[in-house]
Amino acid sequence: MADRPQRPRASPRTVHEEQVLGHLRRSGRASRADLGLALGLSRSTVSGITAELVARGSVVPLRRSQAADGDGPQRVGRRPQMLALNPRAGLFAGVDLRYTRTSAVVVDAAHDVVASTSRACPSATSWDERLRHAAALVDELLRAGGTGCAARELRGLGVGLTGTAVSVPRVVTGSREALEHRFAVPVRLGNNARLAGLAEVVWGAARGTDDVLYVRFSTGVGGAVVLDGRMRAGTTDSAGEIGHVCLDPHGPPCRCGGRGCLESFTSLPRLLAAAGQPHLPALLDASDRGDVRAARVVADAGARIGLALAGAVTVLDVPRVVIGGELLELGEHLLDPVRKELARHLRAPSLAAVEVGAVALLLHDPAISLLATSRPKTLDRPTAGSSDPLSRGAPSTESPREEPGFALGARETADTRRPGS
Ligand SMILES: [Zn+2]
Repeated sequence: MADRPQRPRASPRTVHEEQVLGHLRRSGRASRADLGLALGLSRSTVSGITAELVARGSVVPLRRSQAADGDGPQRVGRRPQMLALNPRAGLFAGVDLRYTRTSAVVVDAAHDVVASTSRACPSATSWDERLRHAAALVDELLRAGGTGCAARELRGLGVGLTGTAVSVPRVVTGSREALEHRFAVPVRLGNNARLAGLAEVVWGAARGTDDVLYVRFSTGVGGAVVLDGRMRAGTTDSAGEIGHVCLDPHGPPCRCGGRGCLESFTSLPRLLAAAGQPHLPALLDASDRGDVRAARVVADAGARIGLALAGAVTVLDVPRVVIGGELLELGEHLLDPVRKELARHLRAPSLAAVEVGAVALLLHDPAISLLATSRPKTLDRPTAGSSDPLSRGAPSTESPREEPGFALGARETADTRRPGS
């Protein structure tokens, strides 16, 4: 028989409901107009569906003040009518296990941070000890969230690992098993630089852009490639590892075993050693004072970053690069040479502007959601005037975000001002 049993088809209304819920899950919050635009649905369709979802309690309307800093469970109020998933649906914890620091955050389904914390963790700490430490931080946050946390269930745990850790299968598997056993929730793990890149795409500087290169400069240098809105892993799960692009085969040794990698020139420990400074704030102070040695080290790092980024952008042809990590504390001392080198090597037809902004770290996954935000730091946005090399080819960029073309966004992660070795 040609006839086969067919799976029952979801009604258009069910499909639209799922689309609305999926959009809110990814974006955190949206107005009805945002939903209509993003999903290609008519105003009346969006109104009908959201009314039903609100009546059912799956979705809640937020006031603008809540949309900005929302905490607290009572999300009623109809003024600007931003919508979010009901925060009572559950809690999601995220952990970032870096070389010298462990951070944790608990968020709700509306993407609001319920509690977050961060602690130094000596680089010699054993892996088991790091996991115990991370679990204790999450426990502490769940308790610190008070009644808001007590009433809601932990639904999942996301974990960011360094590139080194994530490349060791037994570390990944062991960590997942230990944490799943400990919390009895699904655990997802990923490369922390890639998760930070995903954060920028979902909520940060690259929001609304489908093609992005993200690079994080810290104790290590990692990155993420997003094309067509999807994080790319590559054949060997190392897409975005720009830190190990060789800039000079005779350069300094790198922890990957190679020589002259971008990371070997620009990692934070390398910069501190080369500049003779004990920590990042001291390096920043020295740069601010015009210390010749510090200025030379930072400018050289910026130029090498610019060179590597220009190569990557030439290959990927992405319209936006977002750079993050604690090195961004160095502000214009670092960014100015980055821009100059990019302008020297890129021949993009329209280099729109440089965008610098705040801080974000989060993971987004179809099943698990994780969000860490930290103290925003706003750097002056350079004007797109004729003296700015990045403005070439785009003489009038009054609204840089709207311009097609290339933009460099800088993000800075927080809580890591004084890394150890
Ligand atoms: Zn390397």
